[in-house]
Amino acid sequence: TPYQTVEVHELLDATLTMMQAKIPAGVRTVKEYDRTLPEIPAYAAELNQVWTNLIDNALAAMHDGGGVLTLRTGHEADRVFVEIADTGPGIPEEIRPRIFEPFFTTKPVGEGTGLGLDISYRIVVNKHHGDIRVESAPGDTRFRVILPIAAQ
Ligand code: ADP
Ligand code: MG
Repeated sequence: TPYQTVEVHELLDATLTMMQAKIPAGVRTVKEYDRTLPEIPAYAAELNQVWTNLIDNALAAMHDGGGVLTLRTGHEADRVFVEIADTGPGIPEEIRPRIFEPFFTTKPVGEGTGLGLDISYRIVVNKHHGDIRVESAPGDTRFRVILPIAAQ
């Protein structure tokens, strides 16, 4: 896809629509969108892949079918952020350093490829010169994608 000006909330909403059938009835989706978010230059399809991977993981973490999926956005001087948060059990400390490695998965064979976070990292960091940060505690796990507002 071309590098073009995108409206991040439109991308998030499109991804949510695509994933609607996968969201269990017990999971509530909350949007905390910063209405003053600037548009950014980005590869739209690639970013949608990132949201899909992170939402997929969030839903898997809430596998008992209950919880809250939060999509939060905001911006600072020269960067926007998108946070995808879940109320699942969290990421155990001992696997935290490995989750972005290709093929690292804690899911049963056939359920996880272990590529979601590796691909997401490459799209955000290598292709968009952004960053992904993780904060996780039981009941509150947040993946924050940071993207520059100026063309890189
Ligand atoms: P996969 O989803 O195929 O396992 P990923 O690269 O997407 O591969 O994720 C790697 C691992 O990181 C997962 O198997 C899981 O152990 C952990 N993980 C990722 N997101 C979350 C989350 N929101 N809550 C708990 N663990 C997570
Ligand atoms: Mg995954």
